[in-house]
Parts: sequence; C-alpha cells; structure tokens
Amino acid sequence: MAQKAALIVFAHQSPASFNAALRDAAVQELSGQGFRVTVSDLYAMNFRASATQDDIIGDLKNPDHFQYGDETMRAWTEGRLSDDITAEQRKLEEAQLIIFQFPLYWFSVPAVLKGWFDRVLTQGFAFSLQKIYSKGVFKDKKALLSFTTGAPESMFQPDGIDGDINVTLWPLQNGILNFCGFQVLAPQIFWDPVHCPAAVRAQMLEGWRARLGGLLMEKPLTFAPCELFDLSFQGGFRLRPEVKEEQEAQPFGLSTGHHLGKPLPPGDQTRAPSAGGNRK
Ligand SMILES: Cc1cc2nc3c(=O)[nH]c(=O)nc-3n(C[C@H](O)[C@H](O)[C@H](O)COP(=O)(O)OP(=O)(O)OC[C@H]3O[C@@H](n4cnc5c(N)ncnc54)[C@H](O)[C@@H]3O)c2cc1C
Repeated sequence: MAQKAALIVFAHQSPASFNAALRDAAVQELSGQGFRVTVSDLYAMNFRASATQDDIIGDLKNPDHFQYGDETMRAWTEGRLSDDITAEQRKLEEAQLIIFQFPLYWFSVPAVLKGWFDRVLTQGFAFSLQKIYSKGVFKDKKALLSFTTGAPESMFQPDGIDGDINVTLWPLQNGILNFCGFQVLAPQIFWDPVHCPAAVRAQMLEGWRARLGGLLMEKPLTFAPCELFDLSFQGGFRLRPEVKEEQEAQPFGLSTGHHLGKPLPPGDQTRAPSAGGNRK
C-alpha cells in the first residue's frame, strides 16, 4: 500500500513561536503514524502572496486586460504556471491530509497564507464550474485549520465582543476548503497561548498530539450538499423550493451561511456532528 502523505502549510515567521511548536508536534505525531509529512514553511520559502502575471510563464492571452483567473486556468492547462505554484500543487495532490497552521490575523489567515490559497488553488486544478462544494476536486482529501488566537475563547462567543467564532470560520472553511471539496475536519483552536500560563500551553500541545492520533477517523463538519440547490443559472444556485419548505420546520438554519433567517446551528463550524454539535 502506498505511504500516506500529509502536507502542513505553515505560516509563522518564527521558529521559536508556539505555532512552530504545534507544527513540530504534528510532524512528529504524523511521522510516527507512518505518514510522509511535507511542510511548506511559507515565510521561510519567501512565498509570494500577491497574484500577478509573474505566475504565468510565457505569453498572456490578453495582456491589455490581465484577468488572473482566466490566465491561470489557461496556464494550468498548458503547464505554464510558475514553478513555486506547480510545486505546491504537486504537494497538495500527493497529500491525503492537509493541515494549515497559522496565527489568526484580522479574523482570518496571515496574508502569506491567503496568497497560498489565491495562487495555488487555481481554476482547473482546484475547482471548475462542474466541480465545486460536495462535487469538488478534493473530496477525497481531509483539511484542517489549526490556529492560535490573541483573544480568549470568551471573546469569540455569540455574546463576546468579537462575535461567534463559527461566523469567523465560515469564509475560510466554506468559501475555500468546502468550495474545493475538501472534507473539513473540526478546527483546532488554541485560545490565547501568549497570555496563558506555561502549564496550559503544555496541555494544549498534549491535547493536539492526542487528537492527531485519531485525526483520520474523525467525521468531518457538515455542509449543505450540492443536491439541495438548483444548480442552474435560471435557478440562481439557490436552495430548491422543496428543501426550503422542509427547512421551515427546523429550529435552526441549515448552516452558518444558509441560516434562512433562523438561529445559527450551534457549533456548525467548530464541531463535527458526532460530537453532538449539529442539528439532526
Ligand atoms: C497582524 C495581526 C493580526 C492579528 N489579528 C488577530 C485577530 O483578528 N484575532 C485574534 O484573536 N488575534 C489576532 N492577532 C494575535 C495573534 O493571533 C496571536 O498573537 C498569535 O495567535 C499568537 O500565536 P504565536 O504562535 O505567535 O504565539 P507566540 O508568542 O510565538 O507564543 C506564545 C507563547 O508560547 C511560548 N512557546 C513557544 N514554544 C513553546 C513550546 N514548545 N511549549 C510551550 N510554550 C511555547 C512562547 O515562548 C510564548 O511565550 C493578530 C496579530 C497580528 C500580528
């Protein structure tokens, strides 16, 4: 049987950071389980964040009006994407498990990781008009956001000053990972490692190591599958009328994004259904 492969996309500047310790723990645990682990250390690689015409080798289709999506799709088809993008695409293709390890920046990922998403997940390679969401390209791969925050958990509650963390996670987990078809595992959140006592950080590391042991057995988060939507331009890619009708009787929205004007399903973006977080 082929060796399992994992990719850790790492976005922190310092090898002395808590994020680096979390990355190292993952490399160690997954290697111990027989994974071949590759790390893309984005700052160390000087990975470029901006999506520009330098990402394309050779002539542009329309140099007068550069359209990144069109040009990269064409370049991907013809094998003319820049070497750094192609290298990351190869690593992603080979991995069954992808962990994104980063500190939360402005409720999102650091720019260098956003650049990785912008530049590596090109049309054709990571999605097409026919291959999105539950029909997505990477439906056999698992992906997980593992991140640290500066805020304590209380601030990211529905009544906390930062608002519900489930809302914060929706664009990343639905708009990027689920959009490309990944099975999204529950995020691993390390709340405020900067201000907590050393003993708590040690527990966080231990908890992470323990979770890594059973990661591939975990159920992913649930997202609304394509079948629930009218996937036509006339239908506007909206929920089918019979699904909407069915949902009327439900106490919660279908998902954080498809809330249908109702309370958000608790833990929708933070807990897999088996952990008792979701509706149904
Ligand atoms: C531009 C920007 C935007 C931000 N936006 C947000 C935001 O929107 N929301 C939010 O909540 N936060 C935000 N933050 C804060 C940021 O998320 C935190 O500063 C970051 O997550 C902390 O993680 P770190 O790895 O950098 O911590 P570090 O400071 O590297 O580490 C924390 C502590 O862990 C120690 N440590 C290192 N290795 C180990 C080890 N092996 N074992 C035990 N301890 C160890 C370190 O010495 C340090 O004392 C932002 C920060 C910046 C710079």
